[in-house]
Amino acid sequence: MEVTDFEKKLIGLINRQQLLQWENYALDKNNDLNKINQEIYSLIKEINYNKLFNKRKREVFINLSKRLRVENDPEIARLRNKLDNKDNYKKDLDFKANNQVKLAKRMRNDLIELLYLRNYKAQKQGFKSYPDLIFSAEELSKETIIKEVKSYLNKNLKSAKEIIKEYNLTWGNWFTKLGEQGSLDSSDPNYYIKCLFHSLDLDNIYHNINFKYKKDGISGMTFRTSPPEEIRILLKPVTSPMRSRVLLHECGHAINYIKNHRQGLYSLLTTSFDEIMAVLFEKIGINLCLTEEEREIALQVSLLENVRCSISFLFEMELWKDPENAEEKFIRHQKILPIITQKKELWVLDSFRYIDPVYIHNYVLGDIYAKKIINYLNDRYNDDYKKWSNIIIDHFLKDGLNKSFMDKYVELVK
Ligand SMILES: [Zn+2]
Repeated sequence: MEVTDFEKKLIGLINRQQLLQWENYALDKNNDLNKINQEIYSLIKEINYNKLFNKRKREVFINLSKRLRVENDPEIARLRNKLDNKDNYKKDLDFKANNQVKLAKRMRNDLIELLYLRNYKAQKQGFKSYPDLIFSAEELSKETIIKEVKSYLNKNLKSAKEIIKEYNLTWGNWFTKLGEQGSLDSSDPNYYIKCLFHSLDLDNIYHNINFKYKKDGISGMTFRTSPPEEIRILLKPVTSPMRSRVLLHECGHAINYIKNHRQGLYSLLTTSFDEIMAVLFEKIGINLCLTEEEREIALQVSLLENVRCSISFLFEMELWKDPENAEEKFIRHQKILPIITQKKELWVLDSFRYIDPVYIHNYVLGDIYAKKIINYLNDRYNDDYKKWSNIIIDHFLKDGLNKSFMDKYVELVK
């Protein structure tokens, strides 16, 4: 159970990076993240991990460092942090007029360069491409995940098309329209938060979370600023079933971080592990804390979002192979849904391409695996949700990454 000084230092830097990122997004600060990226990079490069760690911990460190070495590389960090602040590209643009296309055109070169750089740095570590590095770090098989996402898309495309018709969606109005569907019984976000935590016998974690609602901010994000004592959640005001779903989802991330009793490397879940568990809590919350009408809309939105994520992921996988022809690929993938496409230049503005590359499929995996875990719990424990909570925390969260998500999943469910 020993945590090395190295681990403490690394976790401290990662938490600090999260805090600076939170301040940039939540308080519109202009923190320069390059310095902290540089510190993480130097720390990782210097370490002789063979001496420091053995067995599972060495495996976890090697996996983590693959990603950290690319993402904190000074050249990559500089470009990513530049792209993360759109003010760097907005000079003389009037945003009352629709200048999204102009903005996208200005950002394109940096984005393409970042794609090439990430691929190049991954190849220097011996991987075929950046996605191959990420899937290896996540302890997942790229081929299996692509297959799973394609099969999810095939299964759900027909229902998605029906809902799209009902809501009059296009690729362009998607998020605005979905955010406006339905109304809420309670406009107080605390109602949903407390309902989720109370149902799972987790009332005592409420005070460990700092919620910030920002109208013009990102949809929802949870920051491990100082886990388990303090977690920060940033999201838009909770005005519709789509937004209450995001709130429940972010609370899920907070539970992941607070209920992980490990310190050091095992406290850092892989992104797929983290997302699958957040989707699990989101689904439990939708079932327990929303009215029937709210629930119906939240589930429709969830299906649409996952179909969109599936398509975006398949587009992204092609993009990594050949970044130059992004526009053609973007339009071809949008055409999977028979609705008006966005202008070809706008592929650049999908944020996950620079902040969270090779990430979007995690939501689809979340849907697939959370459903299976819920079926398992339902079959055995019916509506004893406190028991559900115990099992989820004991089996998946408490020991963090001392085993991979898939190993834990197979042990429990199969
Ligand atoms: Zn999430």
